[in-house]
Amino acid sequence: MTQTVGILALQGDFAEHEAMLRRMGVATRQVRLPQDLADVDRLIIPGGESTTMGTLLHRYNLFGPIQQRSAEGMPVWGTCAGAILLARTIQEGIPDQPALQLMDITVRRNGYGRQTDSFEVDLALPILGARPLRGIFIRAPLIVAAAPHVEILADLGAHGGIVAARQGHLLATTFHPELTPDDRLHRYFLEF
Ligand code: GLN
Repeated sequence: MTQTVGILALQGDFAEHEAMLRRMGVATRQVRLPQDLADVDRLIIPGGESTTMGTLLHRYNLFGPIQQRSAEGMPVWGTCAGAILLARTIQEGIPDQPALQLMDITVRRNGYGRQTDSFEVDLALPILGARPLRGIFIRAPLIVAAAPHVEILADLGAHGGIVAARQGHLLATTFHPELTPDDRLHRYFLEF
C-alpha cells in the first residue's frame, strides 16, 4: 500500500524525520496548513519546543483538524516535544500550555533536570526485538503516568521512567530515533 507520511513542519527537527523516511523509500509531506492533512495517511509531530509548536498549531488552525483526523483513527506519533503535545496532562508546562491532548498520559517537561538535559542510552524495546535502540534524549520530557489502556513500550525504571508508550493508533516517544541511523521505530509506526 502506498502511503504518505505527514510531518508537522511548523518548528523543530521535522527535516530529520523526513530524511529518515526518504531513506526508507516512504513518501512524505510537510504539514503546515490544514489542507496539507488531506494528503496524508499518518502524522509525525517532531521534537522541538512544545510551547512554540503549540502556539503555531493555533496560529495555523491545525489543532481542530489534527484532533479530528486522530478521532477518525489516523496514526499520530509524537517524538519529544511531539509527545508533550500528545499528552492529556502536562507537568511543568507554561500556564495553559496548548496541547492536542490525544493520549491518556501525563508528561513532565524537561523531566531530567538541567544537569542531565541531554543524554544517550541503549533502550530495550521488546516490540523491536532483542537489539536495543539508541535513545537520544535532548531536554527530554518524561512520561510520569499512563492510563491502564496505554501500552508501555520502554521503561528505564529508576534510571529514567517511561520513555515510549502506545495507545492504539497513537505513539509517544520522549527521545529522538530520527537522529540515529536505526529506522526500526519508524517501520513500527508505519505498520499502525
Ligand atoms: N524540552 C522541550 C519542550 O518542552 C522538548 C525538547 C525536544 O523536543 N527535544 O518542548
